[in-house]
Amino acid sequence: MPNPIFPDQAGSIGLPHEGTLLGAVPVGDTSFPLARLRDNDRRWAHPALARILLDSARTTGLRESPLVVGDIAASTGGELSGHRSHRTGRDADVLFYFRDLAGDAIRTPDFLVVGPDGLAWDKVRRRWLRFDDARNWAFVRSVVTNREAPIHWVFVHRALRERLLRYATAVGEQPAVIYEASERMAQPMPSGPHDDHFHVRIGCTESYVIEGCENGWTGRVKALPLLGITLAPGDIRAAVLALAEP
Ligand SMILES: [Zn+2]
Repeated sequence: MPNPIFPDQAGSIGLPHEGTLLGAVPVGDTSFPLARLRDNDRRWAHPALARILLDSARTTGLRESPLVVGDIAASTGGELSGHRSHRTGRDADVLFYFRDLAGDAIRTPDFLVVGPDGLAWDKVRRRWLRFDDARNWAFVRSVVTNREAPIHWVFVHRALRERLLRYATAVGEQPAVIYEASERMAQPMPSGPHDDHFHVRIGCTESYVIEGCENGWTGRVKALPLLGITLAPGDIRAAVLALAEP
């Protein structure tokens, strides 16, 4: 809340696991191109994160298979049960895209654990589903190339990270985008395997920092420029494969 001691504070205030949120905007409803998994009040985001989610949903969502978003934050941030972070509107849980075994895109019904083979068991409908490499990669690509805010992390299981990087390489993705995605995707330790969703976290721009946003540890010495880096494709591939090592 605005207060006389810190009248200039606004937006995302503090660290992802300690902060609060002012001026949040609600994200999504239950329809195309972005759907919330549950119709609850954990749908408040920093405006930049809200725009990133909507943009990536427009890029990747299908009418029969929207981008399904889980918990983001409470309307004024702060503690959210079941999560360590999700306090400043800069964190969002995003469910994976799936296809059924006939190859049709389906609406993701819930958090489903994906095995190393890319298959997930939907216990409600009693069916196997396949991790949709193309659309999950398109989602990651859209997020890491956004112009709204720096992306600090796309938390995801190590095997799925490697799967997506291999897919991107196989389809001839721009090396700079692969490199950027390889930097942003990571399996956090010890915060759960993230084998059933992406966790997207945006960082603070300089103007957010002035308003009280705190980045915390990003695990990187310095952030690479978003795009436009010049590296030979061979260098990129070597870097990606090195990063994919356990
Ligand atoms: Zn999360």
